[in-house]
Amino acid sequence: MFDIVIVGGGLVGASLACALAPTNLRIAVVEAVPFKSQHQPSYDERVLAIAQGSKRILDAISVWSEIGKADATPIKTIHISDRGRFGASHLRHTKYGVEALGYTVPARALGNALIQKLDHLPHITVLCPVKVTGLDVEHDQAALTILQDSKQDKLTCRLVVFAGGTTTEIGGSLDFRTESYKYGQTAVISTVTPSFPHNNTAYERFTETGPLAMLPTRQNRYAVVWTALDEQVEGLLHCSDDDFLEQLQYRFGDRVGALQKLGIRRAYPLSFVKVERPVRSRIVVVGNAAHTIHPVAGQGFNLGLRDVSTLAEVLYDADSTGLDIGAIGVVDRYWKWRERDVNRVGVFTDSLIRTFSNNFLPLVLLRDTALVALDLMPLAQQFLVKRTMGLAGKLPRLARGMPLV
Ligand SMILES: Cc1cc2nc3c(=O)[nH]c(=O)nc-3n(C[C@H](O)[C@H](O)[C@H](O)COP(=O)(O)OP(=O)(O)OC[C@H]3O[C@@H](n4cnc5c(N)ncnc54)[C@H](O)[C@@H]3O)c2cc1C
Repeated sequence: MFDIVIVGGGLVGASLACALAPTNLRIAVVEAVPFKSQHQPSYDERVLAIAQGSKRILDAISVWSEIGKADATPIKTIHISDRGRFGASHLRHTKYGVEALGYTVPARALGNALIQKLDHLPHITVLCPVKVTGLDVEHDQAALTILQDSKQDKLTCRLVVFAGGTTTEIGGSLDFRTESYKYGQTAVISTVTPSFPHNNTAYERFTETGPLAMLPTRQNRYAVVWTALDEQVEGLLHCSDDDFLEQLQYRFGDRVGALQKLGIRRAYPLSFVKVERPVRSRIVVVGNAAHTIHPVAGQGFNLGLRDVSTLAEVLYDADSTGLDIGAIGVVDRYWKWRERDVNRVGVFTDSLIRTFSNNFLPLVLLRDTALVALDLMPLAQQFLVKRTMGLAGKLPRLARGMPLV
């Protein structure tokens, strides 16, 4: 019997296992898709924006040092604009006394660092490729059905942490009350090399079809996250590289010179998912399985990592005072702590999409005025930046850069 079974060894599940490593809890991580597979849904071609607060957590769980120096790129300035209109705002790291507003890290490099660490942790058993296909919750334990090489088996534990991502069968069968809808938009990602140095500047440009983000990454490249309407995606995925670059240049403009050398293209249909109350006796749902948000502000994994740092602290504190870690009182404590942040970030990203994908003239004027005002009002800017850096509210120990144990 394990203390905790984490279903899903993606970015959030693996981070939680690393965070809990210094405790005496016996943990199993069950992951369906081999970590190095081309089809691994978590460790793929994306380049993720990692907030300052998340870097602190990754540092405190000894994962940041495993990310190659060449793999993490500081974001020093963020330039936000409304394509073809007057609204624009600049956020600069020097104003906030930090060496960077955030970092970009390729998801695969982050995955490698997490897996390398998991391989060397004595209390942690990694079962991969193994799929969880069923769950029975009893009074004092949970029993999971797992499928490995077409053979069924059982795992029992005191607490199941469900970190299976957005679309998982087991997540659906858990029957939590969930709000979900599709945006009708798909993110097409790739990389390009600008003819000018990127100078660690990230760009977020709102366009009629959705936001276009350019994130500075290694070797003077930009990671592109181009949000397009669903019906435009086939064209963007299958046109020639030259065609794609020409359309991108037209949308983005020539701030960083000519865009060249297109990388691999991938598409991610976008949806919003929110589990109303992602805890119940013996179960906690975390990461994308609990809240999937639009990537407009690069907040999804950062939010999941804040789930991780909070849950690790609640579970460690409960266990070390002799409480049952699967008891409703313990998992409730976790959700009371997380609820505000999860709701705020969900509403914030969703309103950004609704406001900036709207061409109703009064709204256009209002949002452009808001962007200019943001540039002119240091306090408003500070409020927003502190939140997006993951440094606001009551922070758990790991998010303050302190050890868990
Ligand atoms: C285009 C795009 C860009 C993004 N950019 C950013 C960004 O810049 N910054 C940011 O913070 N976030 C970003 N995000 C969001 C971020 O990618 C997600 O929030 C993050 O990947 C969620 O991690 P997760 O571990 O919860 O889920 P996932 O990454 O989906 O991992 C779930 C894992 O669980 C496994 N699994 C599922 N079901 C089972 C089962 N039954 N048994 C065993 N294993 C199972 C899966 O194989 C998978 O490995 C972006 C998202 C997109 C789409």
